[in-house]
Amino acid sequence: MIEVQNLTKRYGSHCAVNDISFKVEEGEILGFLGPNGAGKSTTMNILTGYLSASSGTVKINGIDVLDDPNKAKSNIGYLPELPPLYLDMTVREYLDFVYDLKKCTINRRKHIAEICRLMHIEDVYGRLIKNLSKGYRQRVGFAQALIGNPPVLILDEPTVGLDPKQIIEIRTLIKNLGKHHTVILSSHILPEVEAVCDRIVIINEGRIVADNTAANLSAEFSSDHRLLARIAGDEQRVYALLKHVPGIADITTLGERETGVFEYALEPVHGADFRRPLFTTLAKEGFPLLGLKSMEMSLEEIFISLTREKLPEATRKGGKRK
Ligand code: ADP
Ligand code: MG
Repeated sequence: MIEVQNLTKRYGSHCAVNDISFKVEEGEILGFLGPNGAGKSTTMNILTGYLSASSGTVKINGIDVLDDPNKAKSNIGYLPELPPLYLDMTVREYLDFVYDLKKCTINRRKHIAEICRLMHIEDVYGRLIKNLSKGYRQRVGFAQALIGNPPVLILDEPTVGLDPKQIIEIRTLIKNLGKHHTVILSSHILPEVEAVCDRIVIINEGRIVADNTAANLSAEFSSDHRLLARIAGDEQRVYALLKHVPGIADITTLGERETGVFEYALEPVHGADFRRPLFTTLAKEGFPLLGLKSMEMSLEEIFISLTREKLPEATRKGGKRK
């Protein structure tokens, strides 16, 4: 549905987007995640035909955006970071204006009424946009993107500046829109993307540093499945015992966590499950196992580790990444 290939955008000598490629399948909700300045808005402006690329290609529904921006645009509903609202128009006038601009052919009153119902803006239909709250303005921005019923929706930080209740409403709305549209949603807020999206592309300093489902990202970054064990008893003696538990490849002592209780990070031999032998070995020697949990990285930790500034390649754990 959306195909981005080797896209690069330079502003003078500064490379805002650096050779990125990704695909979005029909019906997918893709989260485009990255810290401020990562290149999200630049990418979205290129995807929607509002900005030219320095090199690379973008295809929406098979149409090359750079060759035929007008045709590509008719397939896209775009909600930019700052929605293009005309403050001196009423909501009605504005949506009529957008309808004309998009040369929409769907029954005007029915279509606009339907969108207003969906966005819960019927009660402000006659009001001037400048008199609306931020939350309502954002929903009018959304409504504008939905006019013409485009198959693709591109939403740039759609919840910025909204209060928590409005944020939840917008997230629910995006999830529902995802049933009938292909959606790209940018955000610098990880839980947002995690809550709404099927797949996550993480961008940092203009480059894609990860592209996967949330679950796979966690798995990929914790491929060693280390376990954290909390064991009561003398550290030296426990350490010596752990060395003889079958299936444990590596032990790191993490220090005393309660009086006489120490924590250890235990790395398994590839594919091994050492939980039972660990339990029996410790029990036999009278060292109570007080806790055992997975050290799988949370998505939050993955995001931080991937977007930490100037992270040297060698300090990243695990295998090769995009
Ligand atoms: P994001 O949306 O992820 O916060 P942007 O795409 O807005 O990031 O910006 C990416 C980088 O490109 C930033 O370093 C920003 O300062 C720079 N940039 C954006 N727009 C311009 C512009 N018109 N001229 C020069 N630099 C720009
Ligand atoms: Mg931005």
